[in-house]
Amino acid sequence: MTTRRTFLQRVASAAAMLGVAPAELVAASEPSAATPVDYYAKLGVPTIINAAGTYTYLTASLMPPEVQAAVSLAAKHSVRLRDLQIAAGAYIARRLRCEAALVSSGAASALSLGTAGCMTLGRADGASDIPARAGTFRNEVLIQRAHRFSHDHALEMCGAKLVEVETIADYEAAFTPRTAMAFYFNAAEGGRIDHADWLRVAHARGVPCFVDAAADVPPIANLWNYTAMGYDLVAFSGGKGIRGPQNAGLLLGRADLVAAAAANNNPNDRSVGRGMKVAKEQIVGMVAALDWLLARTDEQIATEAHQRADRIASHLRRLPSLTTEIIVPAVANHVPHLMIRYDQRRIGITPADVAAALRAGKPSIELNPATGHASGAAGLHSDENTIVVGPWMMSPGEDVIVGQRLHAVLLGALRTDG
Ligand SMILES: *Cc1c(COP(=O)(O)O)cnc(C)c1O
Repeated sequence: MTTRRTFLQRVASAAAMLGVAPAELVAASEPSAATPVDYYAKLGVPTIINAAGTYTYLTASLMPPEVQAAVSLAAKHSVRLRDLQIAAGAYIARRLRCEAALVSSGAASALSLGTAGCMTLGRADGASDIPARAGTFRNEVLIQRAHRFSHDHALEMCGAKLVEVETIADYEAAFTPRTAMAFYFNAAEGGRIDHADWLRVAHARGVPCFVDAAADVPPIANLWNYTAMGYDLVAFSGGKGIRGPQNAGLLLGRADLVAAAAANNNPNDRSVGRGMKVAKEQIVGMVAALDWLLARTDEQIATEAHQRADRIASHLRRLPSLTTEIIVPAVANHVPHLMIRYDQRRIGITPADVAAALRAGKPSIELNPATGHASGAAGLHSDENTIVVGPWMMSPGEDVIVGQRLHAVLLGALRTDG
């Protein structure tokens, strides 16, 4: 270990050799010990208390301190990007019990790279032709009509054509020599074909199956459940429940398909993934986040969210007509959420206006977007009379602030005439 004294001795002898004053060398080489600049403050960007959850527009998750430290350490050295991509993939595959893995630029890029991989599998150098000559590959992707969703654009941007099916009979009849893959949206709330049938029918025809499970951790075991079920490719967000960097994601699955996906990824020029770079710091952050998560249990994660929800609810206990309930959505965002309901004849403010008041306050608080909406977030069944709090991305102590602010706003709207 280099102590400051040995460091200064080395600087002094180097300075003597170079004929410069030691102070100049220290200034040039010693890492700044000054407090880091708060660029949010410098840029005038308000920080928020995230009482919503892992939403992209709210910068999704916060990395745990261990992950932040790994990211910062990774920034201190250059490496060969391919070496890091390959080693991280091999490590992740081992830990997540699958054949192969790739760190992608979010789940969205895992969707694009996996699609491009399925389209170009076995076509040497085909990667450089996506999307310009997508029509020269197998480019049909089967999907249930009820599984169409905002992120299927990530498939289409490879030049894939989505072929919608509804019944098993439709599905069986939809395969052609141009079928590249069968795609399943795990958190879809509709659809008549289940995982087992989706996999069986496609595999009988030699067509790979790809499932988007981006927001479906926890439970932690989902990281290997879908490959174990038989999916050839699985996509996860790195910056949601896994709590890695927001711009990281995972593509897991069959070695040949992950290799074909990697051929479509940076640093390869003329690849659809050239602009989907994950920097070395974030690749390391993704690996560190998995190590962090795999050292935990679902119970720990649920208990923490539950305790925060309870603490917030305890601030609201005395408000007339108000009731609270803690629910766990069935698939995506599978952690305790707090649902707050009250009679607007007693407390005269709508949940949407409560959300606006908390957003306008200091510190600014974001409630779950399902607040005051019949549909706002996957799996959270809310309505215009419900406030929804997603407590799992708060920092310690922030639950108390959210409870106090909610109490103040609701108390301020109390009707004395009702
Ligand atoms: C969040 C999400 C994505 C996109 O994930 P990113 O990591 O933000 O790219 C894709 N699919 C589903 C189902 C998601 O929830």
